[in-house]
Amino acid sequence: MTIIADSLQEIQVKIHTALRSANRQDTLQLLAVSKAQTADKLREAYLSGQRLFGENYLQEAICKQEQLADLNIEWHFIGPIQSNKTQLIAQHFDWVHSVDRLKIAQRLSDARPSKLAPLNICIQINSSFEDTKSGADLAEVTTLATAINQLPNLKLRGLMSIPAPASDYDKQRAQFKIVSDTFNSLKRQGFIIDTLSIGMSNDYVAAIHEGATIIRIGSALFGERKVSTT
Ligand SMILES: *Cc1c(COP(=O)(O)O)cnc(C)c1O
Repeated sequence: MTIIADSLQEIQVKIHTALRSANRQDTLQLLAVSKAQTADKLREAYLSGQRLFGENYLQEAICKQEQLADLNIEWHFIGPIQSNKTQLIAQHFDWVHSVDRLKIAQRLSDARPSKLAPLNICIQINSSFEDTKSGADLAEVTTLATAINQLPNLKLRGLMSIPAPASDYDKQRAQFKIVSDTFNSLKRQGFIIDTLSIGMSNDYVAAIHEGATIIRIGSALFGERKVSTT
């Protein structure tokens, strides 16, 4: 087995253990975060069974998509979005996890080609209460979700968050609980959503205990990134 196949299997085992200890009967999806990885690495992960890949940088992603056009990959955009990138993002991805304002959502909907299925959207929320972090404020989430639901070429799927890094498990859980509570509150308000995109290499076990349905794993799968591109 290759190193990537090994890591993938190791992560799957940890996911199953966490689901069981959280008494969860459902499953979750593993999004392989492939920023700064070569197309060959993605192909290797694909050959080991991985189908969902997440990218942060548009040009880098499009370049890999061209090299991997023969594979049946589901592409997720998870990086910060500038307005001038919305057209290409709407054309090249199946999901966008990092929508944090209405203007971006409107532009994505306007640019989504009609021959493609609606673009799946997660609202990125700022759960760390830091001014510098991207993400919508908790107080704005209901308004933003309502507006996104009215856009014809988008399908609101749920919430995404990147809490401040914490090494302490309880602190990780507490931060994810804020996101999970917000997600459940939207559901109680009647929103039909099914996706809670939380958890990365260092905190995905905590995220699984707080109800993650997609975890976004980079370094635990591909190894440490050589160039820091975050
Ligand atoms: C880089 C990145 C990840 C993966 O981080 P790792 O710690 O390498 O698992 C997940 N989500 C987002 C939004 C990222 O930018």
